[in-house]
Amino acid sequence: MPKNTQIVVIGGGIVGCAAAYYLAKRGIAVTLFEKGTIAGEQSSRNWGFVRQQGRDPAELPLMMECNALWQGLEQELGVHLGWRQDGNLRVMTEESQVGPYQAWMEIAKNHGLDTQLLEANDTRRLLPGLVTPVLGALFTRSDGQANPARVAPAFAHAAGRLSADVVSNCAVNAIETSAGRISGVATEQGFVRCEAAVCAAGAWSSRLTRSLGLRIPQLWLRASVGYTGNGEPLTGCGVWMPGVAFRQGLDGGFNIAYGGRYKHDLTLDSFRFFGDFAGCYKKYRKAIGVTLDHNLFHDVSGDLDTFSRHRVLNPRPVRRNLRDALANFKSSFPQYDHLDFERTWAGYIDATPDMLPIIDRVERPAGLVLATGFSGHGFGLGPISGLLASRLALEEQPGHDLQAFRYSRFQEGGKVKPGNVL
Ligand SMILES: Cc1cc2nc3c(=O)[nH]c(=O)nc-3n(C[C@H](O)[C@H](O)[C@H](O)COP(=O)(O)OP(=O)(O)OC[C@H]3O[C@@H](n4cnc5c(N)ncnc54)[C@H](O)[C@@H]3O)c2cc1C
Repeated sequence: MPKNTQIVVIGGGIVGCAAAYYLAKRGIAVTLFEKGTIAGEQSSRNWGFVRQQGRDPAELPLMMECNALWQGLEQELGVHLGWRQDGNLRVMTEESQVGPYQAWMEIAKNHGLDTQLLEANDTRRLLPGLVTPVLGALFTRSDGQANPARVAPAFAHAAGRLSADVVSNCAVNAIETSAGRISGVATEQGFVRCEAAVCAAGAWSSRLTRSLGLRIPQLWLRASVGYTGNGEPLTGCGVWMPGVAFRQGLDGGFNIAYGGRYKHDLTLDSFRFFGDFAGCYKKYRKAIGVTLDHNLFHDVSGDLDTFSRHRVLNPRPVRRNLRDALANFKSSFPQYDHLDFERTWAGYIDATPDMLPIIDRVERPAGLVLATGFSGHGFGLGPISGLLASRLALEEQPGHDLQAFRYSRFQEGGKVKPGNVL
C-alpha cells in the first residue's frame, strides 16, 4: 500500500471502481480502498437493469451518455459483462398507470430518446405466453441489462492493470484535512497522504463524512431479489409489471423481485433525518415497511470501528415479497410454473430524500468529491458517475450540468421534493 498517492477513492462499488479506472486511464496515481470485497454491497446485489426509461429528467442526459458507454464497455474492459441491449418494458395493467406513462413520453420526446407507447398486442408480442390482461407498455429499445457481479470487478481489474492500487479488506476510518483541504485518509492499514478524495461509499457515505461537518441525509432501504434456474427464453427486455419486475440474463436464469416493496430497518439516521424524509415517508407509506433490527442496536451502542465491523452489508431478504413476486410471475407466464428460486439475497439501497444522487465537489474541505446516494438506480449510472467523479477530482469541468446533484440542495432551507423510487 502506498504512503502517498494523488487521489484516494473510498468504496469499491461500481461508482468507485469506475472512478479509479477513468483516473488510472489518464495516468493519475490513484488508490482505491474497499472495506470488504469489491462489489460486495449494492453493486453486485442489484437487479441489473441498465435503463434510461422512467428516469428523472435531470438524470436523463447523464444516462443517455452512459448508455453509449455501456455499449462499448465489454470491449473497453476486455470482460464479458452479460450485456444485452433488448430494451426496457413497463407494462400497464391499470388505468391509473396511463397518465404518468403518457407524461413520461413527453420527457423522452424532449430528450430524443427512443421510447414508444405500445398497444396491448405489441406488448404481448414482446412477452410470449403472457396471460395477464394488459393495456399496453412503455418501451425503450436502446435500454439494456448486465450482470452486476461482473461490472465493478471488471473496472477494478482494468484500473489495476493501468497501475491503480486497489486495496480490499481495508476500511477508511476517517478523511483527514489540513487548512481546509483534504490531506489524506486514515485507513485500517495506516495513513495515506493524498491531494483529493472521492467518497463513493454507498450506504456508508453519510456516516463517513459526518466527522468533516458534512450532513448527507441518507437512509437505508432493504430490497430483495431472487434468481431462478434456467428457463426457456422469454425476453431480453428488463420488465416491470405491477407486482413483479424481472430480467432474463444470457444464461437463461431470471432475476425476479417485487418492484416497489422495501423495508426500512431503523437506524439512528432514521431519526436524525426524519424531517428530510418526511415527504418520502408520506408518499411511499404503502411501499415501505419500517422494522426494528440489530442496526439500531449497533448505532445506539456506539460502534466505533463501524466500517471494519461491517465488512459487507448482507441483510436478510424479505421472503414474503419474493414469494409474492414469483407467484405473480408464474400467474402471468404459466409456462414457467415449474421454476423456483435457486438463491435469494437482499441489499441496502442508499436513498436520498429526492431519490437523486449527489455528484459534486464540495466547497469545504477542498479536494473532496461526493458520488453517492444513487437511490436504487446507480448501477445503470455507474460508469458515467465514475467518469464525472474523476473529472471533479481533477478540478476539471464535468461536461454535464450537475446542478440537480449538488450536495448543498439539502442544506438550502426549503424542503426537497420526494422523488420516485426506481
Ligand atoms: C436490490 C437492489 C436492486 C437494485 N436494482 C438496480 C437496477 O436494476 N438498476 C440500477 O441502475 N440500480 C439498481 N440498484 C442500485 C445500485 O445497485 C446502486 O445504486 C449502485 O450499485 C451504487 O453503487 P455505489 O458504488 O455507489 O455503491 P456500493 O455498490 O454500495 O459500493 C459502496 C462500497 O463502499 C464500501 N465502503 C463504504 N464505506 C467504506 C469505508 N469507510 N472504507 C472503505 N470502503 C467503504 C462498501 O463496502 C461498498 O462496497 C439496486 C440496488 C439494490 C440493493
